[in-house]
Amino acid sequence: MCLFCKIALHEIPSTTVYEDDDILAFLDINPVTKGHTLIIPKQHYENLVDCPNELFAKMHNVARSLTLHYDSVLNPAGYNYLSNTNEAAGQSIFHVHLHLIPRYDENDGLILRFNSPESAKLDEATKLLLKQK
Ligand code: 5GP
Ligand code: ZN
Repeated sequence: MCLFCKIALHEIPSTTVYEDDDILAFLDINPVTKGHTLIIPKQHYENLVDCPNELFAKMHNVARSLTLHYDSVLNPAGYNYLSNTNEAAGQSIFHVHLHLIPRYDENDGLILRFNSPESAKLDEATKLLLKQK
C-alpha cells in the first residue's frame, strides 16, 4: 500500500483540512508556502489519466472550497494548483494528488518559471497533429 493510501486510512497521521467519503485534503509535510495542501482521492490511482473524471472533478471542487476558506484564514495573494505527473514532472508519490499552494509574493517558497525557449516552438505540421479529431 502506498504512503498516501496509508494517510487516507489515517494509518499515518496528517493534518487533515477536509475529508469526505472519497477525498482527503491534508497539509504537505514540507510546505513550500503557508497552507500548502495536498488533495487526494482515497482510492489509489497513480495519476490523472488513471483517475476517473468524477473523482478528479471532486478533487477540484475541494480545491475551490479550500481556496475560499483559506482566503479568509491566510489571506494569500493568489494560488497555484499543480498536479505533477511522472518522475520527469517531479512526481515523487505515485498516488494522484493536487497541490494547492497559496501564494504570497514572488519571493515566497515556490519558484515557477516559464522560460519559453525557442526550441519549444512547434512547426506547423506538428501543430496540426496535436489537434484531436
Ligand atoms: P509530488 O512531488 O509527488 O508532486 O508531491 C509529493 C508531496 O508529498 C511533496 O510535496 C511532499 O512534501 C509530500 N509528502 C511526502 N511525504 C509526506 C507525508 O508523509 N506526509 C505529508 N503530509 N506529505 C508528504
Ligand atoms: Zn495510494
